[in-house]
Amino acid sequence: MPAHRHRLRFLAALVGLRPAAAGFSTAAPARGCPLHAELARRGAPAVAALALYSRIRAAASPTPYTFSLLLTSLACSSPRCPPSHAAAAAGLAHAQALKCGALAHTVVTNCLLKLYCALGLLPDARRVFDTAGAAVLDVVSWNTIVSGYGKSGDLEAAREVFVRMPHRSLRVFDQMMEAGFKPDAVVVVSLLKACAHLGAVEMGRWVHRFLRAEGFGRRPGNVMLETALVDMYCKCGCMEEAWQVFDGVRSHDVVLWNAMIGGLAMNGHGKRAIELFRKMLEKGFVPNESTFIVVLCACTHTGHVDEGKEVFRSMGAHGIEPRREHYGCLADLLGRAGRMEEAESVLLDMPMEPHASQWGALMSSCLMHNNIVVGKRVGKKLIELEPDDVNGLWEDAKAVRQVMEERGAKKETGLSFIEWNGLVHEFRSGDTRHPQTKLIYALLEDMEQRLQLIGYVKDTSQVLMDMDDEEDKGSTLSYHSERLALAFGILNIPHDMPIRIVKNLRVCRDCHVHAKLVSKLYQREIIVRDRHRFHLFRDGVCSCNDYW
Ligand SMILES: [Zn+2]
Ligand SMILES: [Zn+2]
Repeated sequence: MPAHRHRLRFLAALVGLRPAAAGFSTAAPARGCPLHAELARRGAPAVAALALYSRIRAAASPTPYTFSLLLTSLACSSPRCPPSHAAAAAGLAHAQALKCGALAHTVVTNCLLKLYCALGLLPDARRVFDTAGAAVLDVVSWNTIVSGYGKSGDLEAAREVFVRMPHRSLRVFDQMMEAGFKPDAVVVVSLLKACAHLGAVEMGRWVHRFLRAEGFGRRPGNVMLETALVDMYCKCGCMEEAWQVFDGVRSHDVVLWNAMIGGLAMNGHGKRAIELFRKMLEKGFVPNESTFIVVLCACTHTGHVDEGKEVFRSMGAHGIEPRREHYGCLADLLGRAGRMEEAESVLLDMPMEPHASQWGALMSSCLMHNNIVVGKRVGKKLIELEPDDVNGLWEDAKAVRQVMEERGAKKETGLSFIEWNGLVHEFRSGDTRHPQTKLIYALLEDMEQRLQLIGYVKDTSQVLMDMDDEEDKGSTLSYHSERLALAFGILNIPHDMPIRIVKNLRVCRDCHVHAKLVSKLYQREIIVRDRHRFHLFRDGVCSCNDYW
């Protein structure tokens, strides 16, 4: 039996609790009850609080109020308690609340979340959070778990939960602020990361103003915040603002440099990204593994093949062993530039086994450059990686595609986000959830007819291009998510403002053509950030020169 279970049973015996299920009463809140009053004083050590609870249970059935008092009391006493002891007490109270059905009450669930977070038991808090129904959770619950992760230093998890917040908008944050929530640096970083992820630049700017007003910028050692700001502005395509923040930073670190270099690369300023990398080296900063990823990406986006190869070769001189990702970047750089054989030998010769996705990327390049010889070899490789697939099916790329489809190539759902009026609107392909659905589809139909007049033909020939990270082409009847977002933008966003869309996957060729023509027909500036880069559509052309 694990030690903590022993302790649990010991504690239960100590306070006279038997594991039998307790009844749960929703009777009077027991505010006048002296036992509850004692429990509310919160000064008691864990064992005393549990003993009080036990007496309450013997005298009358505990209520949600009882549990909120008990859990809060345990949280208050936890700093004076040995950690294992406090954890056992929390587990016991949790089990009792569960048995009584008290966790159906938001207040009780929140108290339990706070208790686990206070004890640093984030996995337990997360379990409570994940098993609670959506109806039980409120702003306080979300806030508790986000800052719990933040305080424990798990920023990635904080962000992950934050971005799953329903209506991840200023509204949630406003509510949090109204509820007296003071965001600390950790929460602000998660907020900025959420803005970056969703391309919500208005909200991001608001956070920036908030930071300035709070004087965050004047404190030293806030390079983490500044990096988050740079990253947010870059990911929203606002390079001038990103530069302003970057230039204003007093003490740069390598993470900040990486954010700026990566941001430039993503926004199509590959040359400036490489220049900034050189400057970073001149200033004596030591690049890390991520630096080389973003620099290689910059070379790929601008077709600087020789420069990229040189950067790759220089990794050793900086004491960095290239990892699988670096080899993948190099192969991608060569493949996209049409140097398929070289790319193939990079993947064949690398010291570790390439991922199927890396072969898949090379396959895309082969199709793009119509290199059937290498394409066939790569196709075989792709199928070899999954030996249970039907062999001998691949006379051509189409068969490979078919096999991949049958394999159910784990496709992500295509999602597009567009920010308007302090809200982030989310669209899936063929989505009908949005309140303006009827208007959106009517506009898209009208759009299609008008576009046909200026020569738009639905591009189905590029089905083969759909290799790794584009939206599913199967559903020809429904519209890809970015088109729905685009129609929403045209309907709602004033003519003099650009339409900014963020998409989680790569934009497909057909949607790319479509967006170019829409920018011309409607005289709108359209900015789409897809998984790989930015596209600025203006007057019928795209900033990427159809290379992405
Ligand atoms: Zn598309
Ligand atoms: Zn483009």
